[in-house]
Amino acid sequence: MSTIGDNVKEVLHKVEKARKRSINGEEVTIIAVTKTHDNQVIQDVKDLGFTSIGENKVQELVKRMEVFEDSLEYHMIGRLQSNKVKYIYDKVALIHSLDRHSLAKEIDKRGRNSEITVPCLIQVNVSKEKTKGGVFPEDLESFVEECLKYKNIRIMGLMTMAPHIDDEKKLRSYFQKMYKMREIIAKKGYNELDMKYLSMGMSNDYEIAIEEGANMVRIGSSLFGKRDYSKL
Ligand SMILES: *Cc1c(COP(=O)(O)O)cnc(C)c1O
Repeated sequence: MSTIGDNVKEVLHKVEKARKRSINGEEVTIIAVTKTHDNQVIQDVKDLGFTSIGENKVQELVKRMEVFEDSLEYHMIGRLQSNKVKYIYDKVALIHSLDRHSLAKEIDKRGRNSEITVPCLIQVNVSKEKTKGGVFPEDLESFVEECLKYKNIRIMGLMTMAPHIDDEKKLRSYFQKMYKMREIIAKKGYNELDMKYLSMGMSNDYEIAIEEGANMVRIGSSLFGKRDYSKL
């Protein structure tokens, strides 16, 4: 059986190799996606040098925050309901899943009341799968412009979840599309926008995503093994 230590080594190695092949050669931030796993595995990857974890449910993220406090950075990577923003907006390093007007409004309101700016990525549904959240590519520019009106939100880039397929060509085309969209928006030169992050790539496809310009990957099962959802 492989240990987390072995998995981490392998992932770091593959990430670095993919980065060297990538179109931009940028440093890649790895977010350890810890959903369904117990706190011990988080301690393990933390001991191995990881500083960022991701959860796709607010209540799970909050539980981790209670245990690990300021020793980790917390990423909200899943669909976010507006009524749950209040539990996390002032504690997360990044919300990856800003994808609709009502959510932007709520995040901005919370930020304004606390006099903070909440860092967010806009989630794009690049493959237009019905089951996935995210704005469609053709709606992205107008959504970005809408978000810029909210002074207590800081848009720091884009996020996507590619479909779970083996077709490398197709995956690559989705990632390329994301990279282009991020460039187009960055070039528009909106003052408040830095578009620093492109969060894409999961266990199934992170090497391809990095090759195509991802600088933030969200990796779960390649680090921790298969998830057991019955534990939730
Ligand atoms: C679960 C999840 C991941 C990680 O998935 P793996 O395939 O286990 O690497 C990444 N991003 C999001 C949004 C997720 O929900």
